[in-house]
Amino acid sequence: MLQTNADMTEAVFEVVNPAGTSPIVLVCEHASAYIPPQHNNLGLSGDVLTSHVAWDPGARAVAVDMSRLLDAVLVASKISRLVYDCNRPLTAPGATPARSEIFDIPGNLNLSQAVRQARHDAYYRPFHTAVESALQAVSAPILVTMHSFTPVYHGAPRSVEIGLLHDTDSRLTDAMLETAGAHTGHIVQRNEPYGPADGVTHTIAQHATPRDCPSVMIEVRNDLIAVPETQADMAKQLAGWLAEAITQMSGASQ
Ligand SMILES: [Zn+2]
Repeated sequence: MLQTNADMTEAVFEVVNPAGTSPIVLVCEHASAYIPPQHNNLGLSGDVLTSHVAWDPGARAVAVDMSRLLDAVLVASKISRLVYDCNRPLTAPGATPARSEIFDIPGNLNLSQAVRQARHDAYYRPFHTAVESALQAVSAPILVTMHSFTPVYHGAPRSVEIGLLHDTDSRLTDAMLETAGAHTGHIVQRNEPYGPADGVTHTIAQHATPRDCPSVMIEVRNDLIAVPETQADMAKQLAGWLAEAITQMSGASQ
């Protein structure tokens, strides 16, 4: 049977709840560990292919639950960040990392600029076009990016459980930290376990800053969202904080 071009083109992102009525646009850049076959697993094998090096475990599941709870659209990548990190511009070496934490990535060693550009055009560009479309589809949008981080990094345990990160605009992060402080037993910190200086707020800088829309990047320690039950609990908690923070912000601006 003949294959059409459509059959041969894999979707590199997904849009969940596209008709969502909330002003919140959820984004998950590291939702998937999938490496398209033409990249030959980037020379990797074994556990690393499903580890936090390849994706943010649990982040997509939490984001999907939040999308349902908030009736918000979610744009999620379907490609591993090892192929192209959708939260990095082409100018960042980490967009196609040759090394991630303690692992060398053989398929990313000494890449030519043409290969990097091709991956950018194939994976990053359509994903960010979809994010832009989702933001344009709502009036007064609010951008929320959802991530998870590893409990142990370079051998050191991390005590922070939830990080709320911002770029130049901290309005939503400030309001969420206040809300979280009133409700949670979790260790919630601003710009942890890393921050804007590490280049992690790229999506926010790209889409929220130019239109002056409130934004936050949520980082959850992945051992807290390892199974469906805890993912659902976390989604409920974060959705509640967000809703309360947004109400608080709109009250303050009146
Ligand atoms: Zn991430």
